[in-house]
This record gives sequence, structure tokens and C-alpha cells, in this order.
Amino acid sequence: MVKQTIQIFARVKPTVRKQQQGIYSIDEDEKLTPSLEIIVPHDLADGFVNNKRESYKFKFQRIFDQGANQETIFENIAKPVAESVLAGYNGTIFAYGQTGSGKTFTITGGAERYSDRGIIPRTLSYIFEQLQKDSSTIYTTRISYLEIYNECGYDLLDPRHEASSLEDLPKVTVFEDPDQNIHLKNLSLHQAATEEEALNLLFLGDTNRMIAETPMNQASTRSHCIFSIHLSSKEPGSATVRHAKLHLVDLAGSERVAKTGVGGQLLTEAKYINLSLHYLEQVIIALSEKHRSHIPYRNSMMTSVLRDSLGGNCMTTMIATLSLEKRNIDESISTCRFAQRVALIKNEAVLNEEIDPRLMIIRLQKEIQELKDELAIVTGEQRTEALTDAELLELEKLITSFLEDQDPESRLEVGTDMRKIHHCFHYLKKLLNDKKIHGKSTVSSQIKDQDCQEPLKEEEYKKLRDLLQQRDNEINILVNMLKKEKKKAQDALHSSGMDRSECGHSQSSPFPPGNPEGLRTLPSSAPTQVQDVNTFGYRSSLLHRKTVMREEMSLGRQEAFEIFKRDHADSVTIEDNKQILKQRFSEAKALGESINETRSKIGRLKEEITQRHMQQVALGISENVAMPSMPDLLEEKLRSQLEEEKIRYKMMFTRLKALKVEIEHLQLLMDKAKVKLQKEFEAWWAEEATSLQVNSPAVNSLNHMKPFPQTPESQRERSQLLCNQSDVNTRKILPSPCPIPHSREPSSTSASLEDSIPEKPASSIPLTGDSQTDSDILAFIKARQSILQKKCKYTFILLQGHRSPSSAHQPLRERPTAIRPKTPYAGPSHLTSSQ
Ligand code: ADP
Ligand code: MG
Repeated sequence: MVKQTIQIFARVKPTVRKQQQGIYSIDEDEKLTPSLEIIVPHDLADGFVNNKRESYKFKFQRIFDQGANQETIFENIAKPVAESVLAGYNGTIFAYGQTGSGKTFTITGGAERYSDRGIIPRTLSYIFEQLQKDSSTIYTTRISYLEIYNECGYDLLDPRHEASSLEDLPKVTVFEDPDQNIHLKNLSLHQAATEEEALNLLFLGDTNRMIAETPMNQASTRSHCIFSIHLSSKEPGSATVRHAKLHLVDLAGSERVAKTGVGGQLLTEAKYINLSLHYLEQVIIALSEKHRSHIPYRNSMMTSVLRDSLGGNCMTTMIATLSLEKRNIDESISTCRFAQRVALIKNEAVLNEEIDPRLMIIRLQKEIQELKDELAIVTGEQRTEALTDAELLELEKLITSFLEDQDPESRLEVGTDMRKIHHCFHYLKKLLNDKKIHGKSTVSSQIKDQDCQEPLKEEEYKKLRDLLQQRDNEINILVNMLKKEKKKAQDALHSSGMDRSECGHSQSSPFPPGNPEGLRTLPSSAPTQVQDVNTFGYRSSLLHRKTVMREEMSLGRQEAFEIFKRDHADSVTIEDNKQILKQRFSEAKALGESINETRSKIGRLKEEITQRHMQQVALGISENVAMPSMPDLLEEKLRSQLEEEKIRYKMMFTRLKALKVEIEHLQLLMDKAKVKLQKEFEAWWAEEATSLQVNSPAVNSLNHMKPFPQTPESQRERSQLLCNQSDVNTRKILPSPCPIPHSREPSSTSASLEDSIPEKPASSIPLTGDSQTDSDILAFIKARQSILQKKCKYTFILLQGHRSPSSAHQPLRERPTAIRPKTPYAGPSHLTSSQ
């Protein structure tokens, strides 16, 4: 048993603005427990947090400042937990913090770069690497992915569903058995034999999560996601099975609402937006207080699911994610306070060992038989009558199959009957003598075969094995070629609806995007395993969704999609990733070729060594001298060359394996990004269609139809949009969903812009999505774009006029924002603190 308090770590998200420095400091001097000091600026201290205190100090196991990368986080936080899971203990890592503080980035990773992959993919990689190294144990890995939203659980790994809303996913419920163990009904567990399969599951779940999210439910900020790795292990022959679970938890945003909204009591009176986080806090408080007998786990689904992780049989780690900007100070302080409470909770992790009853029965049966036999010997229970012919024949058969059995551990089981034992010895003696007298030919035909094999030298055996391996590889190449052809044929079927740019990509890359065969399409450049049908299923379901959506598009819609895609912020990432992917493909291809070359070289060297060796022996025989005592220099040289090539081969193979994982990851990232793009496009398209309908009675008065409300908030947004627009002018046009076209502009501009709006009475257009309507919407979009461009120019000129010459050329924003999905919930505290 391992007793341990929950480990708490802090991670500070990189701030965009430089002036945020000075809000906090990290004291690493206190070697064992570093502390984080949050300094409340004077202007905020009054009436905000507390009238008196101006700084708060919190202790953590470790604090990771802005510069810490994902690798560091994995090595320091997740790896030790993964190690204990491999040893058979349960583990949990949960990220807690306000929306936007980096929980998802830490747990799952960023969507842009391979190096941004988070704890889940890195842990999977580490676990599978360790499992591969340990061949003495049989492991089974299964994955589940649960989302909890509004006290309801949803299975994110349901491959049958093409969820378009959360409710489409299978509902998961919690129930408790009489022993008070928690079970999750309807949560599917998927076996993953490789890292690749596990990654596919992660991406399947993430994509389902993304698709199921709507602006209304804002699932990504308001729901909890639990990715679980269930690991079972067993020694061969043993009936004891170890089970360990690792939960990797991305909690809902921890932002709170103030009850009163004013006054210095804000923090203490604050209330969670998310009810289950409120219950989580209750559980934590109960656990951290001594002598509390009742812990209210049952109050919420999340605390029920994480029951073991909190004060139970688990090694638990919390990562407090902090976005330490001025406006987030209150949330950051409350996150740290929560962490301090969590740090008081003591867990007791035990090895989860269990006896498998089936295995146990087999073992016991064997043991009983052995004991009976022993007993018979001890009690001297002897039989004297002669063995029958049938019994003798049976015995001889047993001996023959025993001799044929290649397994060194095989046994000749004849029981304790001494007559039988004696007969076995007689028979074996006879076989041995026969062999001596008549040579190999006199023994039974089966034994003859056995004997024939024995003189085969180790070398020859190796040669045969190599040959077999070579044939295997050749077969694999052929199979892959066939698969490739089949895939091409399938792609050709789908290609009618595919967008051109993607087709171009798939042709130019060695592996078509979304081709689950990945590296295997390269001639024997990768480990030659057969792709798991399941994995293929998951990826193809994503791709199918993508293709079907595209196929259903009319031409007008496709063109609009092109416009949307071009201006979308994510398209830059997709493009970048495409380039990286291409690079990696060609690297993999080159590497595959080098590996093949090295392999043949190794084969040639081995042959040369054998030949040289034989020559030397022949020379010795012909000259009638013993083998020269001097080492053969040439042979030694060949051997050292062989060693070098082997090392090279191994290095290249390791690199290729890593490349394969990276390629797979990038492909999945891109697939996900594409599905996201399409989802956002659909929303945007629907919005445009609605706009068209709303504005159509008097299209010319587009700008007056939906006046932008003149609230302070809207003014702020508007000025920001203006900034965006001027930015966009230097980079890209910003299509909707931004409210710009509805905003009121100086009438002089409006007048000049009105000309470019198509004169189309669109009021009668039904939103059926037929191509006629689609082309109208497209025309509408284009017209709005042209208005936007003109407005942008105008605004830019205006802004330039108002600026001093020195500031005119400064960038307006750090990073230009193109199309963004609806802004996630930013927390009311942001509003309070920014006021
Ligand atoms: P949360 O899940 O807590 O709401 P996210 O993980 O989605 O927050 O992070 C919000 C944004 O900040 C994302 O765009 C993410 O890529 C970025 N981000 C978060 N943490 C980091 C970090 N440590 N380094 C770089 N970018 C980060
Ligand atoms: Mg998140």
C-alpha cells in the first residue's frame, strides 16, 4: 500500500502581454516546496479581493512557469503517474483552472504542432513503449472516453454514432453494486493493442466532442472529460491478474459567478457556474477536514466516477492551470486555494490484484492430479497385471508426440502407474539402441524427420529463417500494393465531390491524407504488421463524415466553402501541417529505402562471412593443417562492418518508428481540423442564409436592417472589430460570423458601398439548400465581402488619420484573428475585474 497526499502542481500559461509581469513571482529557493506569490495590484486590491492583503502565497510540489514545454510537463507530472500505473496502481491526473487557462492544452495538447501534444498522447506513447520492452508479462490495454455535461454522461467513443449533438451519443449512467463499487453503464471499453490504435481513439473522442458541441451548450468549457486507460497484466501461467486504471481528466472551467457581484466578499461568496465542480469542492472540503465520516460523493456524477481518485485507492495528481493576467487574478487565487485544499487529501493506493477464476480452476485441476499421483506412489498402491496392447500402443503414441514436441517444457504425462513408467523407459532405450545400430533410418518415420532436422546447422537454419522473412516482406509489399490500388479505386469513386486542393495534396504526398495504412504503403519501410480493422473503422468513420458532407455540397456551397476556408485562421495551421506532413513523408520514404538497402547489405555481409569462413576451413583441410590460430583479418573486418550496419539499421528503424507516430498524429490533427472547419462552415452558411432572408426585403438597406446595438459592450466589441478589420486589411478578409455588416457606419460610406450589393429580391428564397438558393447565398456572401473590403479600407484610412505617425506602423494585435468560432464563455469575473 502506498499512502500519499494528492500531489499538486501549478502551470502558468504564457501571457500575451508583457505588462502582465510583476503580478506573480515564483520562489524556487524553498527547494522542497516552491511557492507561488500572487501580487494583487493596488488598483485592484481595493474592494476587489480584500482590503488589507495585497499578496497571496501558495505552496506547490512544483511550479511550471510560462516557459515550461509539454515535454517537461510530461516528464515531471505524468511520467511518475504512468510508472505507478504500470506497476499496478490506479492513477489520476486532473487539470483544474478557469476557461482558457490551458487545461485542454495540458491534458490533450494543442491542435497545431506535434510538439504541442499533451499528457494523453505522451502517456500513451510511454505506456506502449514500456509494454513492448517487457515481454515477460501479458498486457491488455483498453480505453474509454467519457464526457460529463450537466450531470449526464456521454460515451465519446461510440463508433456507430455520427453525433451531431451531445444527445446523439450514448448516455452513460452510474450505478453502485452492493459492495459500493461504482460501475458505468453504457461506457464502451475499446481494446488498443498499439499506440496508434489508442491515438485513434483519442482523436475519435475529441472529434465527437467537438462535433457535439453547440454554441448553446459550450460543452468544451462546461463539461468534464475523462480519458481512461485500463491496464491489465498477467504473468504467463499465473492466475493472478493486475488491473490499474489511469484517469486523465480535463475538468470544466472553474470560473465562478458572484452572488452579489460587488464588494470585497467576492471570493468567499463566489459560486461555481458548474454544479458538479461545486460538488467536487464539497467533496474536497469534506475530505480535507479531519473526522468527517460522510463524504458526499454521490451528489454528482463526476465525484462518483472519481471516487477512487479522491481519498481512495489511487495516486492522484492535480495540475492547477493559471492564466496569470490582471483580469484573472481572482480566478487564479481561487484556483490556488482549491489546490491547497486538495493537497490535504490523503490517498491510499493498493495493488489491484485479482485471481482469474478460470485460470485458477485449470491450475487447481492440475495440482489435484499431481497430488493424487504422489499419493498413489506414497501409499504404494501398485498394479501387477500386464498392460494391454491398446495401452501399450497408446503409450508409444504419447512417447512419439513427446519426442516431436519442440517445446522444451513439454512433459511425458503417464501418471503414477509404475508399469507404464517402466514401459516408457524400455521403449526409449529401444529407440536409442536402434538408432545406434541402424542409424537414422530404422526409427519411426516421425522420429526420422526429427533427426533429420537436428544436424541442420544453426547457420543454415538462420539462412532459411532470413529467406522466410524476405518472402514475408515481399508478400507484405504485394498486399500493400493491392490495398493501395483498392484505396485508389475507392478514392476515385469519392473524388467527384472532393475539393480540388485536397485532391492535389493527396496526389502529391506519398500517403494519401487519411490513409490509415500510413507508412505501410511504402515498400517494406515500416514494421510489417497488419492494420487493425477497428482502427481503420474509427478513422474511416471520421473521413467518411468529411467526404459525405463534401459530396452533399452544391457547387455554390463548395465555392463558399473555399472562401470560408481561405480566410479561416485554422487554414494556416492546416497548411503548415500539410507541409510538415509532406516533409515527414519524404523523410520516411527515404528512410525506408535506406533501411531496405541496409538490410540487403547486412544479408550480403553475412553471406560473405560464411563464405570466407568456409574457405578458411577448406584451406585448412586441403593443406592438412589445423585452423590457423591467427585471427582472419578479413573476416574480422567483415564482422565489424556487419556490426556497424546493424547499429545503423537499428537507429534508422527507431527513427522510422518515431516518424510513423508523428505522421499518424499529424494526420489525425489535420482530420480533426478539417472536420472542425466543416462544422464551422455549416454554422456560418446557415447564418449567412438567415441574414440573406432577413435582409432581402430591402437588400440595399443591409446596414440598417440589423443595427448594431449601441451598448457599451457592443461599442467595445465594435472597436475591437475595427481593429481586426484594419488588421485584416494587411492580411486577410474577415468573413462572418462577425457582426460587422450589420454595424452602423457613417452614412457617406454606406451610400458608396450600397452599389456593390446585388439587386436580388431574395425574400422568397426558401432555405432548402438547393443549388439555386446556394448560389444566391454565395452571391450574397461575395457582395458582403466586397463591402467589407471597402469598409476595411475606409476604416484603415480613418484610423491612420487619427494616429500619430510613430504609432501608425505598429501592429494592432499580436496575432490577426480570422474566423473564430463563437467565443467560449469567458467568465463573468473577467467582466468584473476588467471594469
Ligand atoms: P482551457 O481548456 O483551460 O479552457 P485551453 O487549453 O483551451 O484552455 O487553452 C486556451 C488557449 O491557450 C489555447 O489556444 C491554447 O492553445 C493556449 N495555451 C494554453 N496553455 C498554453 C501553453 N502552456 N503554451 C501555449 N499555449 C497555451
Ligand atoms: Mg478546455
